[in-house]
Amino acid sequence: MLKNTARLRLLIVLLFLSSPGFAQTPGTAISAAVSSPATGQNAAAPQTLTLDETIAALKSAGKAGEAPPELRWDPFFQSGVFSFGGHNGTFSSAASAGKTGFLMFDGREVFTVPLPYQDKGELVFPQAFALTLKDAFTRYFEEDSDRFRIAAIIIDPGHGGKDPGAIGSPVVNGKPLRVVEKDIVLNVSKQLKNLLVRAYPDKQILMTRDSDVFYTLEERTSMANSVPLKENEAIIYISIHANYVFNPRTRGYEVWYLSPDYRRTVLDRSKYPDSAGVAPILNAMLEEEFTTESIIIAQSILKAFEQTLGASIPSRGLKAEEWFVVRNSRMPAVLVELGFVSNPEDAQLMTSEGGLQKLTEALYKGITDFVSVFERSGGFTAVH
Ligand SMILES: [Zn+2]
Repeated sequence: MLKNTARLRLLIVLLFLSSPGFAQTPGTAISAAVSSPATGQNAAAPQTLTLDETIAALKSAGKAGEAPPELRWDPFFQSGVFSFGGHNGTFSSAASAGKTGFLMFDGREVFTVPLPYQDKGELVFPQAFALTLKDAFTRYFEEDSDRFRIAAIIIDPGHGGKDPGAIGSPVVNGKPLRVVEKDIVLNVSKQLKNLLVRAYPDKQILMTRDSDVFYTLEERTSMANSVPLKENEAIIYISIHANYVFNPRTRGYEVWYLSPDYRRTVLDRSKYPDSAGVAPILNAMLEEEFTTESIIIAQSILKAFEQTLGASIPSRGLKAEEWFVVRNSRMPAVLVELGFVSNPEDAQLMTSEGGLQKLTEALYKGITDFVSVFERSGGFTAVH
């Protein structure tokens, strides 16, 4: 994503350099005039800014370290879009100075401004245009910082390295098919990460592991907890596993979350014969105050699985865990069991390219549905 942005910027720069219309003129010290608006000494000829000066002026409205503003210019339609921090100001240029027209923001707010025009073959920006642009970006950024958002999504492919997780060898077409949990969940997690990175260039999409290595549960949660968050930002944690049970007929996916009335107690693994190892994993990653979010993410993922996978694999429903020993994780979290490595149909689904893709799509849909509802509603509960 960063690479794409860089390429886009390069393209714009090249466009401007290669077009005779957009050669740089010697500096006119106008950027100073933007930060301290015109004093009137130049009233006859309203001051204009070059593209670089306009961008420099806009940049001061943004946060430190943020990607700089960009202009995408369409020479055919003589129109452009200033993009900055996820917001867009769209305009058309005029044939000459002194024309007014529209500057539209994010397709929802319109200003009447003196339009940019070409002067001696160069696109120039009237000061009032640049100021309107800067004021709007400033205001939009202020609104953004008040909004509750998911800043990071952590994908946790279970097991890895010396810990293979569940291993199944169900009989498929007369032959045993060897299925290893750590490999399946890593495949799905990598594909899921790619989709989420594309969907959310402004969020951190992280994986607890992206190769066949082993981390303890404590290391995984401490990775998650070390992601820096602002007051209005949340992070979600999705742990991905596959199931095993002695009975090869048992199959289906299930989604785990923390029960609202959980209590600190001793784990009883024998209570979950169908879900090898799930209890201590959930234990390590959850905390009481995020129960609501965890349930809603879990519901969203389950629904997406039902919609995406249909009859190809049964749903075993939502599972609430009441036996967590709460440790140090500070985020809503769910655990998804994709299917049973011990079942022939599930094993085939999880090892085929098409099946993996479907499972990834289901996870992706569940997560993105949750994120859009969550961000639109401004967060379901307060996060401390
Ligand atoms: Zn597992």
